[in-house]
Formats: sequence, C-alpha cells, structure tokens
Amino acid sequence: MDGEPDLYIGGAWRHASDGGTRDVINPADGSVAGVVDEATPDDARQAVAAARAAFDDGAWRATPVAERAALLDRIAELLQRDKEDLAALETRDTGKTLAESRIDIDDVTSVFRYYAKLVGVDGGDTGRIIDVGNPAVISRVVREPIGVCVLIAPWNYPLLQMSWKIAPALAAGCTMVAKPSEVTPLSTIAFVHLLEEAGVPPSVVNLVQGSGAVLGEALTATAEVDFISFTGGLATGTTISKMAADNVTKVAVELGGKNPHIVFADVRDAGDGDSWAAAVDHVLTGVFLHSGQVCSAGTRLIVEESVADDFVTALAARAETIRMGDGMDPASETGPLVSEQHRAKVEAYVELGISEGAKLITGGARPADPALAKGSFYLPTIFDRCDRSMRIVREETFGPILTVERFTTEAEAIALGNDTEYGLAAGVRTSDAARGERVVRALRHGTVWLNDFGYYTAAAEWGGFGKSGNGRELGPTGLTEYQEIKHIWHNTAPTAAGWFKG
Ligand code: NDP
Repeated sequence: MDGEPDLYIGGAWRHASDGGTRDVINPADGSVAGVVDEATPDDARQAVAAARAAFDDGAWRATPVAERAALLDRIAELLQRDKEDLAALETRDTGKTLAESRIDIDDVTSVFRYYAKLVGVDGGDTGRIIDVGNPAVISRVVREPIGVCVLIAPWNYPLLQMSWKIAPALAAGCTMVAKPSEVTPLSTIAFVHLLEEAGVPPSVVNLVQGSGAVLGEALTATAEVDFISFTGGLATGTTISKMAADNVTKVAVELGGKNPHIVFADVRDAGDGDSWAAAVDHVLTGVFLHSGQVCSAGTRLIVEESVADDFVTALAARAETIRMGDGMDPASETGPLVSEQHRAKVEAYVELGISEGAKLITGGARPADPALAKGSFYLPTIFDRCDRSMRIVREETFGPILTVERFTTEAEAIALGNDTEYGLAAGVRTSDAARGERVVRALRHGTVWLNDFGYYTAAAEWGGFGKSGNGRELGPTGLTEYQEIKHIWHNTAPTAAGWFKG
C-alpha cells in the first residue's frame, strides 16, 4: 500500500507485473484511503501456481493438526493485538462505523479460535472405522484437505467474510489464493502481513487484488484449483459456477438475500410494551445497520394488517433519528454507502419503487446536511403498500431501503416469507411460542431468528436456501467444505479373490 508491494505470491511481496495500481476511496468523504497494486491475470495465474506447488509439495497438509491449531490461535492473538489498526482500516475502506469494525475484528478472531479448537479437539479428520464383515480388513473413511482453494470475498464485510474462508482452509491443511473486492482490499492486505508474521509458511496463503472481472477467469477457470469459495452477488456467483464447471471444480457460493422480517400483531397484544419496542428496534437495526449493505438485512417487513399503520409510524420516527456520519466519528450510528457507484444503484431502486407505486414514507433522498455532501450517504428509506409484483420487493437493493407488505393470516405470512428466489435469512416476531416454532420451521431460509435479528456464531452454519447459494460456512460444515473424503480399504491378510477360475 502506498508504494509498498501488495501482492503476496509464493511467499514474497510484489508489485503488479504491469505496474498497475488502484486508488482506494474512503466513501465518507471521497478522499483516497490508499493506493494498492492491481494484479494482472498473469499475476493471478502465478498465485494459483504457487498455491498448487505448495499443496503438491505436501509439507503443509502433513503438518500435525495440533501445529495448525496453534497457528490459528497465534493468528487470533495477533488480530487482537492489531484490532484498533485493522478496525480503522476497515472503516476508512468501507465507511462502516468504527464500533462495527471493532465488532468485525472480534468476530474474525472468534472464527480463528473456533477452528483452532475444532481441529485441535478431534483433528477434524479422524474419520471413522467400518465393519465390513472381514476381520482381516480395516475399512476406514478419512478426511483430507481438498487442495488449492480460491477465496473470493465481497466489500461489505471484507475481512470478516475472508476469515470465514481462510480460517477453515488453513485448519484443513489447504493452500489458497485470496482475492478481496477491488473496492475494499486494505484490511485483507494488512491481515496477510499478519499471517506472515504468525508463521504461515510461504505459498500457503497467496494474495491478489484487482478487478474480479479481469482476474476471474485466471482464478476460476483452471484445473489447478480444487475448490472455489465465493461470497458476493448472484450474477457473479452464477458466472463463477459456470467457469468452474468445465474442470468440474467444486464451488461453494454464498450469495445475496431478500430477507423477510415477519411481525405478528401479538407482539403488541402481549401488552408488555417490551415486545413491541423490541420488534420495532430489531426491524430498524435489521435493515439499516451498515446502511443496509448486509446480505442478511431484513429488507422486507411483513407485518400483520391490524398493527401495520402503527408499526410503520413507530419505525419511521426511529429511522428519522438515525445519526449518519463518518464512521471514524464516535457519534455516527451508520456510515455512507460503499461508493458513489453503489449509491447510484440504490437511488435507481428508489426511483423504481416510486414508479412501481410503492408509498414513500421516509427517506428517498441524500441527506441535506452539508457536512455529508462529499460522502456517498443515503437516508434510511421506507416504502409502504408494497407487493410481490414490485421489483423493489423481489430484488436485492443492498441499501437502506425497507419495503412493507401486510398480511392477515399466519398462512399468508409464511407464504409471503417464502415467496422469494432467495433464502438466506428471515426473522419472526411473535409473543406466541407455539406459533413462533410453527413459522420458523415453515420458512425456507438458511438462518431464522425468532424474536431476535442479525446475530450469528462461528459455531453455527451460515448459508442459504434457493438462489442464496450452496454450501455452508462456519460451524463444523464450514470445515468439511475444505476437505475431501477418502475411503481406505486395507486388507491385512490378502488371499486370491477366486472369481476367475482359469
Ligand atoms: P460481487 O458479486 O460484485 O463481487 C464479489 C466478489 O467477486 C468481489 O471480490 C469481486 O471482485 C469478485 N468478482 C466480480 N466478478 C468476478 C468474476 N467474474 N470472477 C471472479 N470474481 C469476481 O458482489 P459485491 O462485492 O458487490 O458484494 C455484494 C453482494 O455480496 C451482495 O449480493 C450480497 O448479498 C453478497 N453477500 C453475501 C453474503 C452471504 O453470506 N451470503 C455475505 C456478504 C455479501 P471486484 O469487487 O474486484 O469486482
């Protein structure tokens, strides 16, 4: 960064082979947050070749799991040591508040600790023994590292999303090429320096950054790669899956979401006040945190007709008090959108919503505050009277836009909640525990929160149904994605099979 080489290939830091660089923009004020090397397809091919050679050499995958676990723990320690610097980089790069970035770094740390413990406890690959009816035969199924992994992450949670990939890949004994989003590479570059310091062997982790469209083919359409783990948008995930198909390369894609948050009238009828206030608060946070740039944001409020007017009024009042500002300012509750380009996309969706007949309740504009004029800020926006014929209800806007749909029966609420091509996450608010259990089981989404929203843990799987993707990250499954399964049949007392008699 800023003159230092930023590509890490074969254990050495390098500039791009054609000398190309990119300005990384701070979306809070449009200033240049850093200048980084921009890899060429040839650089990407070299990174893949380095990872391939390191895997085939066998030293890393043969490293005892206890040593790999110790390395992961060491990485966790260094993450905490550098927490403030990494959080500040993430804020300057993405615009999110410093408070959020600090939580991200703590979450990244917990992912490394989780996988250190998982492989440290059971080895992660001890496998199982099978009785095949012949005492001379030892039949066992073992798990082995899948090989060379390409890890592609998006810009909304740059280091967090990358950590969900790097931690299990290292734990499993894989080698890898990491590619952060071209928009937000800063924290990942700093993190790879930290991996080097922690003692990750040369070529086990390689780093290239640059345009996905330019580097994509070199990273994904190659038989040198065994597994591609991608987090990003549906269109890119589909492109990558197609590119990988020619080599039958395994792909896991974590894509977007259009996530329903269903509110039953009984949260108010409960009469305790708390359930109602919590529902309003969680719907608000669920959609407007990080200015809506969250794959699991609860962007579709599906609320029971009898309380809908009051709920929307309460929500709009809260939305209008959200303090926007530079993420480095401790007073800011939410930051800008990640780029001018992304704000233009969000603005186009607002215009579309209006033209489709949705009723604009609040927002729908850039903030008037002149102090925010240089940044890519956009007001929290609520559209009421929406329905499933509207694109604004069906498509992921990835901005601070909430649409409101209304229902009268439980069956209708479930049908609306499932009426999406995505299936990443959903929320349900009810004071009736039996109803809550019925509804969460009926919803076709990878994570469902009942009377809560947005929380996750490194120990539980994350991923989507439908077009929200395939495969899972985090939890034990997040490790097995990085492993191949091998059945070993060992006959300790071989005799002739005797099938052919001649
Ligand atoms: P994109 O799909 O545009 O990009 C994601 C990553 O893919 C970036 O690193 C991008 O690089 C890269 N990329 C783009 N084109 C190609 C290509 N042809 N080949 C290889 N790589 C490519 O998504 P965004 O970065 O815009 O992220 C937002 C999306 O991510 C949203 O849809 C969101 O829902 C989803 N997401 C999903 C999550 C989940 O857990 N399911 C979590 C977080 C986000 P570059 O930026 O350099 O072009």
